Amino acid sequence: MIDCIIVGGGPAGLSAAVNLRQRGREAVVLSAGPSILEKAELVDNCIGLPGLNGTELMKQLEEHARAKGAEILHKKAANILPFGESFMVNADGDILEAKSIILAGGAARGAAIPGEEEYLGRGVSYCATCDGMLYRNSRCVVWGLSETAAEEAGYLADIGVKVTYVAARRPEGLKGSIRFVAGRLTAVEGEDTVRRVQLKDESIECDGVFILRSAIAPARLLEGLEVRDNAIVVDRAMATNIPGVFAAGDCTGTPLQVSKAIGEGQIAGLSAADWCARSGE
Ligand SMILES: Cc1cc2nc3c(=O)[nH]c(=O)nc-3n(C[C@H](O)[C@H](O)[C@H](O)COP(=O)(O)OP(=O)(O)OC[C@H]3O[C@@H](n4cnc5c(N)ncnc54)[C@H](O)[C@@H]3O)c2cc1C
Repeated sequence: MIDCIIVGGGPAGLSAAVNLRQRGREAVVLSAGPSILEKAELVDNCIGLPGLNGTELMKQLEEHARAKGAEILHKKAANILPFGESFMVNADGDILEAKSIILAGGAARGAAIPGEEEYLGRGVSYCATCDGMLYRNSRCVVWGLSETAAEEAGYLADIGVKVTYVAARRPEGLKGSIRFVAGRLTAVEGEDTVRRVQLKDESIECDGVFILRSAIAPARLLEGLEVRDNAIVVDRAMATNIPGVFAAGDCTGTPLQVSKAIGEGQIAGLSAADWCARSGE
């Protein structure tokens, strides 16, 4: 069993990984895509690291975490289930078990659309590799909102799902066999299970819909997690309301800044290491 799984490979998650390693604990970082920091042209308020752009700063943070022995997996956590004293994490279909969790997935983006939560698990999925097999020979819509969505749609097409891909524009690398529709989903509808999705000017009949955002809202990732105003509620040890689960960075609220993310990551790493020590070997 892994000591700690960190959901998110931005400044907060990597900082947490460094402190866990400093305490001799295993740290596995799940990273679904690039940190939002990579969009920054210049980050000039990070003490000791002046004049870097976001990509350069992220490279240094990643190199530091790897040098300390953190394992960084390019996978998305689709859901987390408490399991007795431990947690089971579904990472793109692989099930990983950990003693503790640190949530560091960045600020919540993209509110749920009508019907999304109602049909979650009954036709709505956030992970093609986890649930794709359930939809072989069926019609599915993929709403591509992340960098890896076209690849995930390709995987679905390869296993025999009839895919319609909806996005603002056709992504590079989308398989020729996949039907592309320009637009955005406005609602998911159905009866017992999903039957169709609505766009602004049309409706698409389907048996399932994969909503592929780069981040999954924390409360959808882990049931029962306390969230207020889109931010995970934490105490000064970065502990959430769920024992063994900690959070750090933009996902805990404002200010949305690198140094705050790094500082909170350090504290969450320490708290998770203490949790592992208290819960015994
Ligand atoms: C254009 C721009 C400029 C900025 N400039 C500055 C600046 O100059 N100074 C400053 O202090 N701050 C700046 N920021 C803010 C800064 O980027 C953020 O505060 C910081 O990146 C937050 O770090 P984080 O680790 O909490 O989240 P993020 O950096 O958002 O990282 C979260 C990571 O988690 C991953 N993730 C999410 N969900 C999952 C999941 N389910 N499974 C696996 N991985 C997941 C995401 O793919 C992402 O890689 C800027 C932001 C932007 C957009």
